[in-house]
Amino acid sequence: MTTVETVAPFKETIAEIREAGGDIYRLCYQCGKCDVVCPWNRVRKFSIRKIIREACFGLSQIESEDIWRCTTCGTCPARCPRGVKQIDLGVSLRRIAAKYDVFPTSVRAARTAGGSLRAEGNPLNEERRKRADWAQGLDVKPFAEGMEVLYFVGCYLSYDPRLKKVAAATAAILKRAGVDFGILGSRESCCGESIRKTGGESIFRELAKENIKTFIEHGVKKILVSSPHCYHTLKNEYPEFMVHFEVVHIAQFLLELLRSGRLRIRSGYGKKVTYHDPCYLGRHNGIFDEPRELLQAIPGLTLVEMASSREDSLCCGGGGGRIWMDTPKGERFADLRLQQADEAKAEVLATACPYCITMFEDSRLSRDDEGSVRIKDLTEIVQEVI
Ligand code: SF4
Ligand code: SF4
Repeated sequence: MTTVETVAPFKETIAEIREAGGDIYRLCYQCGKCDVVCPWNRVRKFSIRKIIREACFGLSQIESEDIWRCTTCGTCPARCPRGVKQIDLGVSLRRIAAKYDVFPTSVRAARTAGGSLRAEGNPLNEERRKRADWAQGLDVKPFAEGMEVLYFVGCYLSYDPRLKKVAAATAAILKRAGVDFGILGSRESCCGESIRKTGGESIFRELAKENIKTFIEHGVKKILVSSPHCYHTLKNEYPEFMVHFEVVHIAQFLLELLRSGRLRIRSGYGKKVTYHDPCYLGRHNGIFDEPRELLQAIPGLTLVEMASSREDSLCCGGGGGRIWMDTPKGERFADLRLQQADEAKAEVLATACPYCITMFEDSRLSRDDEGSVRIKDLTEIVQEVI
């Protein structure tokens, strides 16, 4: 097994870990509470506690698949009695692995995604010039200074066939509510959230600077996003570049539109719906109530909760760059989440994140009968009732 000592001078490694998480991980007293709440331990053995212990001794196993496992779901940092920053430590180890080009086979896709991000501004090997193709025929305008809001569409909604439907639903709702909005099209780049979590710090910085330059050139003030990953990054991480934009997630914005009367619900939705809290909307940013209020405002819709919800929400498995990596059947958190939706007797599993939808749809399609539960973004439900 390659340890950090064999790929990098010991001092440099410790400095790198320190830079990403300070000495905070050294506060760990090995109580193991993190391992108890980690979703991995529902599907296989995994110990972030052990990774922390090895880091304390400078013995991190850089070629181990385990350093790539954390989905950055945010459950264990919230439970740690010593305030250890497990995610920061994990990211710092990935930065070291990326720097020395040590990628286990199962995570090579993260390296490929990095190449695509550098070349085309998206992780999906798609062409930059096709970024706005989803909007063809939908009468969506390019963003111009003075518009109420910039709709920052994000990579998956721009290119993924399933998620283009969510982008289209969003545009339809905004138009219906009379929102003066525009998009950046090929001038938009990935927000950089996931590549940063997989250790690609320099790529993240390039993408962030590119986006920030474009926002400033276009006079952007308020940014609407569909992805909680874009939300988290634009709101909490772009200020590292000394800029502050008003960032709003579509779940919040739709509720605002409803409350102000700009959006009117015209029909009912007679289904039993359960809502999955995406990690980066809920745990990382405290947005638990708005999506539920939005759903509850729809006549006929019955909202039911799953076994793990709100702060305890079960991660879909797609965060931390895991969306790009293959997770073997039997180890997919999304399979468990669909079971929880079944147990809650939900007909629809609603969420508000492109990664969650991707992971859930994959799980649904891998079921023998493709399951009865339908996967929907909040916007797709709202579009049906306005
Ligand atoms: S919960 Fe905190 S203190 Fe306990 S083992 Fe995990 S990181 Fe260490
Ligand atoms: S952040 Fe989530 S996935 Fe990562 S180690 Fe903690 S509980 Fe596990």
